[in-house]
Amino acid sequence: MIKANDSNRKSWIEVSKDSDFPIQNIPFGVFKKSDNNICVGTRIGDRAIDLNALQKLNYFAGIALGPEIFNKETLNDLLKLNKPVWRAVRDRIAEIFDANNEMDETHKGLVLSMIEEVEMMMPVSVGDYTDFYSSRQHAYNVGCMFRDPNNALLPNWLHIPVGYHGRASSIVLSGTNIHRPKGQQLPVDAEMPVFGPCKLMDFELEMAFVTGQGKELGNHISTAEADDYIFGMCIFNDWSARDIQKWEYVPLGPFLGKNFASSISPWIVTLDALEPFRVEGEKQEPAVLPYLEFKGNKNIDIKLEVQIASDHFEPHTISRSNYKYMYWNMTQQLAHHTVNGCNINAGDLMASGTISGNTPDAYGSMLELSWKGTKPITMPDGSERKFLQDNDSLIMKAHCQADHYRIGFGKVRTKILPAKKLNI
Ligand code: MN
Repeated sequence: MIKANDSNRKSWIEVSKDSDFPIQNIPFGVFKKSDNNICVGTRIGDRAIDLNALQKLNYFAGIALGPEIFNKETLNDLLKLNKPVWRAVRDRIAEIFDANNEMDETHKGLVLSMIEEVEMMMPVSVGDYTDFYSSRQHAYNVGCMFRDPNNALLPNWLHIPVGYHGRASSIVLSGTNIHRPKGQQLPVDAEMPVFGPCKLMDFELEMAFVTGQGKELGNHISTAEADDYIFGMCIFNDWSARDIQKWEYVPLGPFLGKNFASSISPWIVTLDALEPFRVEGEKQEPAVLPYLEFKGNKNIDIKLEVQIASDHFEPHTISRSNYKYMYWNMTQQLAHHTVNGCNINAGDLMASGTISGNTPDAYGSMLELSWKGTKPITMPDGSERKFLQDNDSLIMKAHCQADHYRIGFGKVRTKILPAKKLNI
């Protein structure tokens, strides 16, 4: 039983009803405090909680944590421990901040900060990053646009959780603004490529999971074991330069159209906190190969929202989707990733692929929302978007809704700055 998931539990820290961070959440992140100390922490309501201070005060006695495990600039050392330890820490935090318990004022002063007073940092040093392509509607839409509506899915798609290895070093935190990328593009009807700023700047609405320490190289992780190796999830924006991508991707797949940046939300919400929101996925037909079979409900009902904001208007919602629409689930993705003996390490990050629902208002990219630029979207100031413009901010939000509270991820917000000049 996961004690921290007790839906009746209340905290002595005040939490508003629409907060993403009730005591049932207890996400993990890294932040810099006003005294410039960096620590691993969690959040309840609008309070940032310094887990290093809690450990020093002996609140984690009896849990097999190393010394100074939270006196770190990333979660990686915590990720190397296994699920029973992660669970014990989260259960203990739920107990410490339970409304039936108290904390003396000196301890509160050492442990608590207002969330506005801390600076969120990149939570994980991502070793390897993989992006899947696991939303059927997204794969279908792209297939319709670029191939043939009658054969939209490639022959392998219903048999393999398709993915590619991306670039870990350019994954950045929410709030890190990015410059419009530059690269080669082949203009429509042209025979020769041109070079310049990307004209078709796009986002991809995704969720990602962060892994714990896997097995030795040469061993695989089965679908039944997969959840034990998944620490938690965050929101993931897989920035995509469509014109660069279109010219370069044959035959080896995405390269400069993707590797200039991807953005994540700062809090990693544990898989344990998401357990109450498990739902059944779409029936997989034709039947998958035995190593991809799984038991139980492995999809998760996470409501997703995408907004554009600019200097001229407030955040404007352009899409509402849901993580439950995934065709391939995380256990299948991880089982497939390792079935050949590929190893995973603590701090690997695996993104879902663009999450598109089956109605046009639930599509997860501008490419699909504007249907390749043929259906512009009108903004509150009357301007139109086919793709993203300079100085647009793109916001993604995600949460699971329970009867009396929500388990949220906060948001990932990124502003697109004009392309930098190229010195040749
Ligand atoms: Mn993607």
